Amino acid sequence: MTVEILAIGTHPDDVEVGIGALVSKLTGAGRSVGILDLTLGELGSRGTVPERQAEAAEGARILGVASRVNAGLPDGELANTCEQQRTIIPYIRTLRPQVLLAPMRDDRHPDHHAAHYLVRDANYFAGLVRIETGQAPHRTPLVYYYRVYGESDTPQFIVDVSEHFETKLAAIRAFSSQFYNPDYQGPPTFIASEKFWNSIRTNAASLGDRIGVAYGEALYADGPVKVDMPPGLENME
Ligand SMILES: [Zn+2]
Repeated sequence: MTVEILAIGTHPDDVEVGIGALVSKLTGAGRSVGILDLTLGELGSRGTVPERQAEAAEGARILGVASRVNAGLPDGELANTCEQQRTIIPYIRTLRPQVLLAPMRDDRHPDHHAAHYLVRDANYFAGLVRIETGQAPHRTPLVYYYRVYGESDTPQFIVDVSEHFETKLAAIRAFSSQFYNPDYQGPPTFIASEKFWNSIRTNAASLGDRIGVAYGEALYADGPVKVDMPPGLENME
């Protein structure tokens, strides 16, 4: 099966935390969205791999995602190598998206930073016919990036996700082993703290403030983005 949009996360739950509301908005508008998680998150302090896979399936269901797959790359060892690019290329060529939503660089988690360059370059090489994987070449024409842990710089876009923010929280709650959950017995972690849970709403509200809506999610582009007319200048009487 193919998808129009492929959201790529380093760990299962990164897509939900970073752009869960945007994914819900897209699927709600009838777009086909797939999720590719690069690792199984096997280094995570809480939850087993099977638990996290069940949580990921539930998160995808809540967001209305058509297909969620896992590349099985090694957690804690992501690097922009030829070998890891060749693992990702078949997913891009099979799903054949028109837009990629991928991890942004300069993140506090080294795997997120590595995933940025790994996905960007795998997408480039996926378009080269001489790299043979048994599928037709495909380079996703448009790539945007998102952050998992809040914005540390100025994004190119803030999407109004006010109507889909509660769905995002429901999808994150599906990861009951990972996030703030007094009913779950596990070692304390940064993302399992009540402080992190509250920061999800605070960050989205702060992005919303910047565009005059309740909640926003941010996207970054690698350079200027082509538009026929800037937003607000189209369809003027
Ligand atoms: Zn992550």
